[in-house]
Amino acid sequence: MQTQLCEFCLKSGMLCSKCQEKIRSGAVDDLYMKVAQFLLDIENQYPSLQKASLNKVLQVGGFLVLVVGRGDRRRFMDQGGKLTREMRNAFKRRVLVIEDGVSDRGFLEDLFLDQRIITINIIWLPDGSTETRVVLQGRRARRLSKKRIRALTNIAKSVREMDLRVEYAY
Ligand SMILES: [Zn+2]
Repeated sequence: MQTQLCEFCLKSGMLCSKCQEKIRSGAVDDLYMKVAQFLLDIENQYPSLQKASLNKVLQVGGFLVLVVGRGDRRRFMDQGGKLTREMRNAFKRRVLVIEDGVSDRGFLEDLFLDQRIITINIIWLPDGSTETRVVLQGRRARRLSKKRIRALTNIAKSVREMDLRVEYAY
């Protein structure tokens, strides 16, 4: 697996000066290190991880968010989601895997995993900023709770600087 730190440093826990500098500058934090170490430890059970990259790790809205390389999402979701379940148990957080460098639509599809997106459009606000409006199909049984929507909105802001407005179509 490709990570922001050297594999040797992560495995030994003794950081080289380059890795130390990344921690000191805040480019990499403790959480990232813990997750990267955890994944390296179990990499041999998940061969698909070997070609994947772990770009960023955030803890937002009760989720553990892994920002991974483009095209790598499936490598983390391999074996029917066994890896993300294992991480959920270890870190006591729901795990969300988001790909870097994808379109807004691709990002939103990863974010609203089990929902059906009907429309995405950009709303320009008077102050020149924008909001991304997402309309989801509103079959009642599958609707996300307000709390969950708030969490996902926070994730969009943290990961992509995207201001989301989520609505359901009736
Ligand atoms: Zn290093």
